Amino acid sequence: MAIELLQGKFDFQNQTRSQFRAEELKRKIEPYLQKSKNIPTGLELTEFYSFQKERILRYLNATEKDWENWRWQIKNRITSVNCLNSIFPLPEKLQQEIEEVGKIYRWAVSPYYLSLMDFQNLEDPILLQGIPKIDELYDEYGEEDPMGEALTSPAPGITRRYPDRLIINVTNKCAMYCRHCQRRRNIGEIDQHQKKRCLMSALDYIKANPEIRDVLITGGDALLLSDNMLDWILGELHKIPHVEIKRLGTRVPVTLPMRVTDSLLKILAKYPPIYINTQFNHPKEVTQEAKKAADKLISAGVVLGNQAVLLKGINNDPDVMKKMNQELLKIRVRPYYIFHAKNVKGTRHFIPTIQDGLKVMENLRGYTSGLAVPTYIINAPKGGGKTPILPQYLISLDEQQAVLRTWEGKIIAYENIH
Ligand SMILES: *Cc1c(COP(=O)(O)O)cnc(C)c1O
Repeated sequence: MAIELLQGKFDFQNQTRSQFRAEELKRKIEPYLQKSKNIPTGLELTEFYSFQKERILRYLNATEKDWENWRWQIKNRITSVNCLNSIFPLPEKLQQEIEEVGKIYRWAVSPYYLSLMDFQNLEDPILLQGIPKIDELYDEYGEEDPMGEALTSPAPGITRRYPDRLIINVTNKCAMYCRHCQRRRNIGEIDQHQKKRCLMSALDYIKANPEIRDVLITGGDALLLSDNMLDWILGELHKIPHVEIKRLGTRVPVTLPMRVTDSLLKILAKYPPIYINTQFNHPKEVTQEAKKAADKLISAGVVLGNQAVLLKGINNDPDVMKKMNQELLKIRVRPYYIFHAKNVKGTRHFIPTIQDGLKVMENLRGYTSGLAVPTYIINAPKGGGKTPILPQYLISLDEQQAVLRTWEGKIIAYENIH
């Protein structure tokens, strides 16, 4: 347009048309802007969170310095109804229900993640992820291991389902046991890191299979390993010439951001390239502390991505998901996947419909930055693999033409040039 102006050829008719279109686009985003005001975000809730933190610290008779110590956070995970109820009083019925569920399924919440929960609202999306609900016991249909992970383990500690990459399972420990956890079957009564002997045979498998160029260390939560163990396993992988990239699966930026210590950063910085995928599920989780953890990881050269799980009552609202992905971009975490919640026993009340997932995707593409648009994935049963699901944008395709549907729903013909 600047060139057209210089040449004195500016077309006022085109400008009028563009302005009309800009007004149309403005009207398109208006409903979201209205609704977005009422979607809470962690970066706006700093005051509420520090109020809650003070309350928890007072109950645990602890200091700010304790709070910043991740080992203290783990040692002081809230695991009993009594303790929970003394910090945040709960209705009698809920107390009994948590007690009941706790007999079957273990629960634990880090004081930090607890401070994000709003106990005035029992449907709070953070509370729902961490505090058991009686529905967990009313799931007749769910399976223990719907992905058949137990059937895709060619060596101890390894899950291999793809040609060039695999998972090493290093621990069953987490800062918080997500109520929607897909690996519930591994969350026993005790926290257990994988034995070093077992990890050594996993490493032997990788050494013996030169096509493995991408190794994903996960659990449990990979960053709950000690600095020493992480240093060792990353160092070992770094020495294998065909391992091009290392990835860590961890919810630490969301549930235990103080785990990102300077000594951890020193270790991570030694073994590039490292990719970390974390799991934010709601904009309320994108807090100042999470931002600080992300900033630090990035300073060590780590590339951050997010793998959300689509969960009924938590984030299956398209605008909540859009807001979350926008908040994540603000803290330099790139949305990577949205997983459809699997049919894991005890999690049925979280499972959304596939239509919900398609609505979420439809509301992202075009409406917001492409960077905020992850891939929606259904994990095919029995280890069939991650399968991408998209709303229908390609209506038909033959030798002559494609018929496309644009993000706004306009149907257009597009010539297939040969
Ligand atoms: C998810 C997964 C991976 C990684 O998949 P990407 O699509 O590359 O992120 C690798 N191995 C297994 C067994 C997995 O389940």
